[in-house]
Amino acid sequence: MPGTTLLLQLDGKIPNLALMRIAAARRTAGDRVTLRRAGNAQAIQRQLGEEAPERVYASAIFTRTRPLAELVRKAYPQAVLGGTGWSTTTTLADAGIEPNGPIDYSDYPRWSSSIGYSQRGCRLRCPFCIVPKAEGAVSETATIADIWRGGKWPRHVLLLDNDFLGQPRWRERIEELRTGRYRVSFNQGINARLVDRESAAAIAGVDYRDDGMRHRRLYTAFDNAKDAERFFRGVGALIEAGVRPHHLFVYMLIGYWKQETHQERDWRRRQIRSLGALPYPMPFRRTPELIGFARWVIGGYDRTVPWEIWEAARYQPARLRLHRTHERALPLTGETQQ
Ligand code: SF4
Repeated sequence: MPGTTLLLQLDGKIPNLALMRIAAARRTAGDRVTLRRAGNAQAIQRQLGEEAPERVYASAIFTRTRPLAELVRKAYPQAVLGGTGWSTTTTLADAGIEPNGPIDYSDYPRWSSSIGYSQRGCRLRCPFCIVPKAEGAVSETATIADIWRGGKWPRHVLLLDNDFLGQPRWRERIEELRTGRYRVSFNQGINARLVDRESAAAIAGVDYRDDGMRHRRLYTAFDNAKDAERFFRGVGALIEAGVRPHHLFVYMLIGYWKQETHQERDWRRRQIRSLGALPYPMPFRRTPELIGFARWVIGGYDRTVPWEIWEAARYQPARLRLHRTHERALPLTGETQQ
């Protein structure tokens, strides 16, 4: 029966693919559909003059968003909740939506790229990662032509693949990207540990971009010092194949491994900086020290402010002024690296 559907995107800065599929399905069924970015408690509540929705679907991608998802449940007892931040096993099919069904981009009118997965799953099973549990082994899902919206839309494709090079026919997908002159954002990153000379040349040969499709950017990760040899071999192959070091945006998981020390994570940071790439620490636990480390690096303060000074300033740029002996060398505003 046609009615009203409210879609709540609780986190994530790019359009939410699952919600876009639900929007398409519910509009086809005749519903009036509203999609709202609801990143705080107030945005979840019914807005002034808004009629009570019959159906509510909410998506949380990050586990830190769970408290907001709980609020959705309280505000709308009929809500269907999903996303990896809520459950790694709930699927669109559980909500009666075709998992590979049509996508409705109309709730994101300023977004012009096309989004999708050319593959699901991953070859590896990193203990901190939900992908193997949520998506299982590698499977192929769509071609680039399937994902691109076509017509007037730019040939900009944002891939949500977690292991692009793990799919058997990655060479065909690369060929499509290359000959179709697409810009592509490997949004979830390329696993540098599994890159060899052939795949490095293939990646270097496409127009890889950040998620806004503006800057040349290739995302990857260096999460564990034990992976150093494989990581640097893969990154070396990419650079040799023509990827410029400053195009590399390297996520660093910090605070996960029991044996991790400040010295270890700082070693990874220095290795990435010495390549000329951009480190981006992601705290697994949100302690003041780990958040402070992330802020130090993401803000670019690590380039000029010694860690000891940053620590003494309690990881606050504004407090650096108190350390006058270093003042000239210190950036006092938020210099960012992107
Ligand atoms: S390689 Fe990446 S996607 Fe695969 S299991 Fe490890 S962290 Fe997850």
